[in-house]
Formats: sequence, structure tokens, C-alpha cells
Amino acid sequence: MKPFELLEPRTLREAATLLHAAGDAARPVGGGVAIMLMLKMGVLQPETLVSLASVEDRYSTIALDDDGQLRIGALATLRAIERSGLVRDRIPVLAQALRRLSNVRVRNVATLGGHLAHADPHMDLPPVLIALGASVRVVGPAGERVMPLADLHAGYLETVLARGELIAEVTCPVQGSRRAAYLKCTTRAADDWPALGVAAVLEAEGEVVRSARLVVSAATDVPTRLSRAEALLRGVRIDDALLARVGEAAAAEVTPIGDEHGSAAYKRELLDVYVRRAVRAALAAR
Ligand SMILES: Cc1cc2nc3c(=O)[nH]c(=O)nc-3n(C[C@H](O)[C@H](O)[C@H](O)COP(=O)(O)OP(=O)(O)OC[C@H]3O[C@@H](n4cnc5c(N)ncnc54)[C@H](O)[C@@H]3O)c2cc1C
Repeated sequence: MKPFELLEPRTLREAATLLHAAGDAARPVGGGVAIMLMLKMGVLQPETLVSLASVEDRYSTIALDDDGQLRIGALATLRAIERSGLVRDRIPVLAQALRRLSNVRVRNVATLGGHLAHADPHMDLPPVLIALGASVRVVGPAGERVMPLADLHAGYLETVLARGELIAEVTCPVQGSRRAAYLKCTTRAADDWPALGVAAVLEAEGEVVRSARLVVSAATDVPTRLSRAEALLRGVRIDDALLARVGEAAAAEVTPIGDEHGSAAYKRELLDVYVRRAVRAALAAR
């Protein structure tokens, strides 16, 4: 591994300023889980790493906003989010998704900001958070901006973050009366990277769906809303015939990409099946 200088700024804004000044020669580090692997493989060879571990404590906290949304700091570890009473109570689908996200050693160290910024389409949380309507606050050297999380990912391992911009926190509407599920299909161990992930968030009265948000991941370059499948669910009672049409629509509206977890054709089949299951699982959830 190429030697590097390690900087430990005390504020997120200072970190952004350092990164902006250094350009491609520097990279931020959250938990370091993904970036250390890339350094060891020689994929990245930065001269400087800017650790975010010592920035303001508020970027590690999980709290309810005045408007009742959950605010999760970018430096919160995945384990802290999984164990948070607020998350379990207000967004149970997020805590459930975390239990099968890799192993506890990874979750103890990996941070939410690094998880989202890494932009690997196999990440488990983006589809869940996007289906819930989460947004992300970004801090740069000159100020900050807020964007829907759905707009963060630009392609495989690519985000829309500009030079020096850092993820500061995620704001997520609580589940409330919405019913939600995240289904992850793995082709090896249960907690492996997914071959396919599907998140479903429904507003429903009994078996009648008022609105639906469906997001697929791991089969596409970026987490993707399934808007045609969502439209079929709106205002109707769920039965097997409808779910068959929803599954077919979902499988037809994206172009899956094959990888070591399955071919494109296999992922298309998985999508058909898992979208139906995710809608059923969401309806059965609270
Ligand atoms: C063996 C293994 C198995 C895994 N399995 C799964 C799995 O099944 N499902 C899953 O979802 N994930 C899985 N992960 C990924 C893990 O969940 C973490 O999300 C990931 O490692 C990145 O988190 P991190 O905080 O360590 O990021 P880092 O490694 O610190 O950073 C990752 C990238 O984000 C940048 N970055 C870090 N923080 C910020 C920030 N605040 N703002 C902007 N850029 C930033 C870094 O420069 C780097 O480019 C796995 C990881 C490993 C090592």
C-alpha cells in the first residue's frame, strides 16, 4: 500500500476545505472499511486521507427533528443505527434491513456517510431510505445543500458530490402508518452482498393500496424506483393476479446488469418474484 498522510480535522467544514484544496490527491474516510480495501488493492492511491472520526459529535447522533423526521448523522455507525431505540420504534424497516447487512464487525465500524458515498449498487440501505423518502444534507467548503437521496448516486461507484463535498446527515420521514419491507436475495450466505434488494413502502387501508414506492438495488447501476409497477398498485385491492402484473411490470421496466451474484436474466426473474413478495411482506408489516 502506498504511504499516505492522515489528517484529523475537528469540524466537517474544515474537512471539506482540506479536501477541496487537495483535489484528487486526498480522500475522506468514514469507517474506513471500503476505502482501506481499495487502498490495499491499489485501486486508490491518495497522498492524503482526511479522517472524519474527530468532527463534531452531532454528526454521529440520531435524533428526532422538530418536524418529526429522523435525523441520522453521517458518522453514525451502522451498528448504532441498528441498535437505536428511535430507529427501531420509528423506522423499524431500517433496523430490520441492518440485521442482514454483512456481519457485526463491519456494522460496528462502517458509517452511514461512507455507506452512501461509496455508491456500490449492492448496498442494502439506499433502496430502503429512498423508498421512505429520505434526503441527504451535504457540506462543502462554501456552504451546504440538501437533496433527495434518490439523486445522490450517479452510476457505479459514482455520486453527484462535487470536489470537497461531504455527506453530513440523512433526514428520513418516520414510517408512521406506512407499511414497509426490505427483501434481500443472496446467492451465498444470508448476510452476503445481495444479488437483488427490493424495498416496498405502502400507504394502505386494509388490502387496498393508496400509494406505493418500490425501489430495486443490486440489479442496476444505481438504486432505481419502479414507477410502472408502483402505478399498478395505486388505489386497488391486492390479489395474486394483480401482483403477477406488478412483478412483470417491474421486471420489464429496468435493464438488469449481471455480476458475480447472478446473470442479468437471473436477476430479471428474481425481480419479478421479489417485488411481489416485498409488496406482500409490506402489507403484512405494521
Ligand atoms: C466484507 C464486507 C462485506 C460487506 N457486505 C455488505 C452488504 O452485504 N451490504 C451492504 O450494504 N454493505 C456491505 N458492506 C459495506 C459496508 O456496509 C460499508 O457501507 C462500507 O464498507 C462503507 O462504509 P465506511 O464508513 O467504512 O466507508 P469508507 O470506507 O470510510 O468510505 C467509503 C467511500 O466513501 C467516502 N466517504 C466516506 N465518508 C464520507 C462522507 N461522509 N461524505 C462523502 N464521502 C465519504 C470515502 O472517501 C470512500 O470513497 C460490506 C463491506 C465489507 C468490507
